[in-house]
Amino acid sequence: MIKRTSILAVVIFLFLTLFSPGWVQAQDGLEILDSSAQADFPTRLNFSLSAESDVNITDIRLHYQVDRIGFAQVTSEIYIDFVPATAVSTGWSLEMIRIGGLPPGTGVDYWWTVGDAKDNRVATDPVRVPFDDNRYSWQGLTEGMVTLYWYEGNESFARELMAATQEALGRLHDYTGAQLERPARLYIYANAQDLQGSMIYPQEWTGGVAFTRYGAMAIGITPANLDWGKRAIAHELTHLVIHQVTLNPYCDLPTWLDEGLAMHSEGPLEPVLASYLDRAIAEDSLISVQSLSSPFSAYAGEASLSYAQSYSLVEFLITSYGQGRMFELLNTLREGSTYDGALEKVYGFDMDGLDALWQDWLIPPEPTVEEKGMYLELVGAGY
Ligand SMILES: [Zn+2]
Repeated sequence: MIKRTSILAVVIFLFLTLFSPGWVQAQDGLEILDSSAQADFPTRLNFSLSAESDVNITDIRLHYQVDRIGFAQVTSEIYIDFVPATAVSTGWSLEMIRIGGLPPGTGVDYWWTVGDAKDNRVATDPVRVPFDDNRYSWQGLTEGMVTLYWYEGNESFARELMAATQEALGRLHDYTGAQLERPARLYIYANAQDLQGSMIYPQEWTGGVAFTRYGAMAIGITPANLDWGKRAIAHELTHLVIHQVTLNPYCDLPTWLDEGLAMHSEGPLEPVLASYLDRAIAEDSLISVQSLSSPFSAYAGEASLSYAQSYSLVEFLITSYGQGRMFELLNTLREGSTYDGALEKVYGFDMDGLDALWQDWLIPPEPTVEEKGMYLELVGAGY
């Protein structure tokens, strides 16, 4: 027990040594006394600093980096506006409205540099502050690469959602070969209102959202809509996985593939969406694969048909050509290939070719006169 305590003490000491802001050597009287950061979720992240010197402090800068999946690590440098003095306490707020908001738990690394009138300069060590949604008391449950956070409902509620999450990951792997490459954080809000209250630009209809560049997703689930919640988790989680495995600096995914895979993870196509597809077939008003490669229409009817068609296109590719080709398609897109180029390389047809083959699969051609005749003869021969 004593040994454990001393190990803990060493760990805490190391932690403080490595990560405490202001753990810097004072330089010729210039010293940082205190530095901290606090989340005011979802609106802002507040940074504060106090420093003193023998002469006036003349220059204070805050530097920060937001932890996200990307290719270039961007460091922002903020020149703090203050009145020069020998003792300064100041601060700065990162207003989320300026950057479109951050999902809960996003890490922000920050450090300060301070200079005085004698040209002394000191810097704090970088510290990571999590932008947590501290308005709720979250509990966490981790399995594999996924950590699920929730604050309402008992543990069996969380375990049921985690089981659905793992099942969805397994299904996705089975039919695409894709799996999480980085940890994912899943925030379960108690309902849609709470979820929307966590966002900077909420839409009335937002029930779930995937923050693909942050490895996070947030969904509002009440025990009464558990089944919907499981589908929503499967959908958003698929966006996370697919974006991780296709990430490249050159191009995005075609929307029909991204949404089609997400819908496929949910399970069978919902009857209401299937009816949109049936009607479009009957009325000969299907949307082209080319059009479905761009973001979907904002009009509800056209959007529903777009989702239904995307599901069907993915279903066609997987049932006709298998998991291996789908995995190859995702990998080819990761290399930055064009949509036509990737399809051509993996399947031997481009978007127009896919359109034609898919429609043949969806709508079997009318039998020819000869075929009809043979059919009648065979039936006739039996009696
Ligand atoms: Zn989606």
